[in-house]
Amino acid sequence: MYAIEAKNLNKIYAANKKTRSPEKHALKDFDIQIPRGSIYGLLGPNGAGKSTFINILASLVMKTSGEVKIWESDIDSATRQARASIGIVPQEINLDPFFTPAQALDMQAGLYGVPKDKRRTEELLELVGLSDKANAYARSLSGGMKRRLMIAKALVHTPPILILDEPTAGVDVELRQMLWQNVRALNKAGTTILLTTHYLEEAEELCDHIAIINHGKKIKDTTKDRLIGQIESKELLITLAETTAPRMADLFKDCFFSNEGKNKVLIRYNPADINAGDIIERIRKKKNTIIDISTQEPDLEDVFLSLTRSK
Ligand code: ADP
Ligand code: MG
Repeated sequence: MYAIEAKNLNKIYAANKKTRSPEKHALKDFDIQIPRGSIYGLLGPNGAGKSTFINILASLVMKTSGEVKIWESDIDSATRQARASIGIVPQEINLDPFFTPAQALDMQAGLYGVPKDKRRTEELLELVGLSDKANAYARSLSGGMKRRLMIAKALVHTPPILILDEPTAGVDVELRQMLWQNVRALNKAGTTILLTTHYLEEAEELCDHIAIINHGKKIKDTTKDRLIGQIESKELLITLAETTAPRMADLFKDCFFSNEGKNKVLIRYNPADINAGDIIERIRKKKNTIIDISTQEPDLEDVFLSLTRSK
């Protein structure tokens, strides 16, 4: 039994004459099976179709075809049960600035029909570290506090599944760590987590299962450990003393290579195949003088680029 299961899911957004946007096939025969109890990462670059999938789960977007079950309830024939099984933290913050956190949670509980004596307002505020802000106006909260309040809001009806759409896009390192801790704690307490992200690092840090989606198609899904081994890559940006555009692509046929200006080269490589020492050695052998090296862990988008360019 899965927490969420989708089969042959398709979404085609109709063309819009006003905005002159053409028809868009945002999900293409998308299949996914999310095990109960997991922290599942849906990973892909911007525009891949992640939010479309989340919004279908939330009944905010109508699928074009396919089948979706949430906690064994079909979203077409058992819509209410399906919706009751998920709490969703959307990509954009949407809080009423004139409500306090306590009021916001109370309102949300009312919307979900949670009786007054079953409400967990204090407990949820405590969970996301906002107890001392219970009676402050939402507009006075920092960006990070607002995000944490959104998590608490998604949990008022105690759903078995929590879904976070890009929870840490554009947030600072400290808040990211705190959100990750919140997510881990919830998962430990039994909640299945589905999150979308375009940061490889986030999926690596947090998730036990990962599916990669690009252009509406699922490219891969596997456990994290297996995936990381397959796509991990590193980058070296090397600055040379020589100012003529370095012609050394031939040296790096087994890596991704590009010239980044008159005296800079970028080499992206899989550490399973070659190490940084070998790369530097190859350059030196050609009588080039290295004056600076910087390393970088590429994000998923870079990895995609190198995969598609080298094929
Ligand atoms: P992601 O969340 O992975 O960045 P989205 O699911 O938001 O991707 O978008 C997938 C594709 O569908 C994109 O090309 C996007 O422009 C398009 N799209 C998203 N929402 C709409 C919409 N309401 N109408 C038309 N096209 C849309
Ligand atoms: Mg999105």
